[in-house]
Amino acid sequence: MSQALVIGAGPAGLTGAYELRKLGWNSTILEADDQVGGISRTVEYRGYRFDIGGHRFFSKVPLINELWHEMLDEDFLLRPRMSRIFYDGKFFDYPLKAVNALAGLGMVEAGIIGASYARARLFPQRPEDNFEQWVTNRFGRRLYEIFFKTYTEKVWGIPCREISADWAAQRIKNLSLTEALRNALVGKAGGKDKDGHIITTLIDEFQYPRLGPGMMWEKCEAILNESGNPTQRGILVDKIHHRAGRVESVSARTTNGERAEFGAEQFISSMPLRELIHALDPLPPEDVVRAADGLTYRDFLTVVLIVNREDIFPDNWIYIHSSDILMGRIQNYKNWSPHMVPDASRSSLGLEYFLWDSDDLWTWPDEKLIELGRDECVKLGLIEPHEVEDGTVVRMRKAYPVYDQTYPGNLATVRQYLDTLENFQTVGRNGQHRYNNQDHSMLTAVYAARNIVGDAHDVWAVNVDEAYHEEGEASSVSGDRGVPQAVMDASGRAPTLDEMIAAAFAPLDKTALGAAVAIVMGLGMFVASAVLLVRDGDMVGPHLSLPGHYFLGYDVTWRGAILGTVEAAIGGFFVGFLGATMRNLLIDGYAYYVRRSAVTKRTRQILDEV
Ligand SMILES: Cc1cc2nc3c(=O)[nH]c(=O)nc-3n(C[C@H](O)[C@H](O)[C@H](O)COP(=O)(O)OP(=O)(O)OC[C@H]3O[C@@H](n4cnc5c(N)ncnc54)[C@H](O)[C@@H]3O)c2cc1C
Repeated sequence: MSQALVIGAGPAGLTGAYELRKLGWNSTILEADDQVGGISRTVEYRGYRFDIGGHRFFSKVPLINELWHEMLDEDFLLRPRMSRIFYDGKFFDYPLKAVNALAGLGMVEAGIIGASYARARLFPQRPEDNFEQWVTNRFGRRLYEIFFKTYTEKVWGIPCREISADWAAQRIKNLSLTEALRNALVGKAGGKDKDGHIITTLIDEFQYPRLGPGMMWEKCEAILNESGNPTQRGILVDKIHHRAGRVESVSARTTNGERAEFGAEQFISSMPLRELIHALDPLPPEDVVRAADGLTYRDFLTVVLIVNREDIFPDNWIYIHSSDILMGRIQNYKNWSPHMVPDASRSSLGLEYFLWDSDDLWTWPDEKLIELGRDECVKLGLIEPHEVEDGTVVRMRKAYPVYDQTYPGNLATVRQYLDTLENFQTVGRNGQHRYNNQDHSMLTAVYAARNIVGDAHDVWAVNVDEAYHEEGEASSVSGDRGVPQAVMDASGRAPTLDEMIAAAFAPLDKTALGAAVAIVMGLGMFVASAVLLVRDGDMVGPHLSLPGHYFLGYDVTWRGAILGTVEAAIGGFFVGFLGATMRNLLIDGYAYYVRRSAVTKRTRQILDEV
């Protein structure tokens, strides 16, 4: 059997090995940590299980849903979603609901919000370059300040003005037309795919493994190991030896300080690009190293509190918008799955802190962080201090690849260099510096594996968002969605939402419909007259006397038949032309409504994308 080497046992690395196994290749997976799952792992502490930030399983790519169900079928739960925003001592429904938000903020604030919204709609800021302008133009300055600014800046650590507007627009524009239509028609999205797998919309519900996301990746690892594809944990790859455009081997440091070298015919890497470039031996040219050094990452830590209370709050998570509270979000893991806690009389809360590893907070001892977390929860009014029985802290470096102004150029330089290594592919989140979800990481890995057996997919162009386009017409050579060529038109460009709506609500050609009706009516008139004339000769009686009232000069004679045919055709043309015009107007109005309601709905969920 042919042999591949995979760097990283997160969703990308494990999926790559899983796909390779199906294609008749063996892999060795090297994982730096002592646990698999990467950022999508589940950590266990005293039987309490928690994520690195709650992980919803959601994909519109059928292939990914199939893989999830294949790995973990009966342990995959469908869970209700509930989330709120904490602001100014109060909880607000999220996605935002106008009545709830205005009731919570009071009449005076409601007035200010209304005025600032009206101002933003009447005088939008142009050009719309950054996230602040993007949100302000849609919600007004006041709502932006209350519900968007603080949380977004907590997550990214940079002012909203320095975050590109493209990022928000990109997340909004990649809507599912099916979802939009379903929402417009029946008011609720969701359903099952052709294999009966549940398709969720993330708005009301999501899928989640019974024991957290790590369960999926531990199961995947077990399947791989049983079939002769071992994961070696505690092995940090720090050298990638290459010659003449081919990688020959990687060498790594084990947790006990030993060194080991691994050869293979093909390599798939999900390690962060910055480290990867520095690991290459020989090193790439200086400009490539400089570009890699320009890629930055936001770090993350979670404080988990074990609380002696059965029910603390009903949400899966709450966004914390108050600027005097450092945590950005708080998860209640038993609401994700009741199996996440070993004792139903207790709860475990995951408090999320977004930071740089150079921040003081990063180096605080765990006890101090647990105290901070407890005090913040008390300040939020969620718990009493004495209810906290225990806690733990998990730090995750490079949780978020940062999309600053310089990253596109840096990424392009790095990628261009990596493309010169013919048997080496990079996949996944930090492997492609892509702010993604698991499905994207997995899909890049599936296509990298298929490339190894002769396919020619551009793994850098895999875009699960663009695959949000329609079922059916997105079929590709391989029949899967999410492959770039699957969603692109003949010019190599993915259609926009407007183009998809235009295609779904294609207008009728007015002249063509006019001509068609003209032919039908004209012919009908002629045939009817001709049948009477041939059958009854001059004695047609009262038959066809009605058209005589409408068509000038019409009677049942051969001359009248020709006149009636011409007049019926002219009348038919106008009927068809007007009918098509009316129908197009109605459809345009309906398409506008569908688009507006879909975009509004998605815009209201922008916090989920931050
Ligand atoms: C707070 C938060 C919430 C999220 N929520 C969701 C969600 O709700 N739904 C969702 O689908 N996604 C979510 N994500 C995204 C999801 O975590 C990632 O998309 C996914 O884990 C990326 O998988 P990956 O394999 O590409 O990378 P990773 O998960 O980063 O895995 C890479 C692996 O490679 C290993 N590695 C790195 N360097 C080396 C090396 N030199 N040698 C050996 N091994 C190495 C790492 O230890 C790691 O195990 C969330 C992310 C965060 C931070």
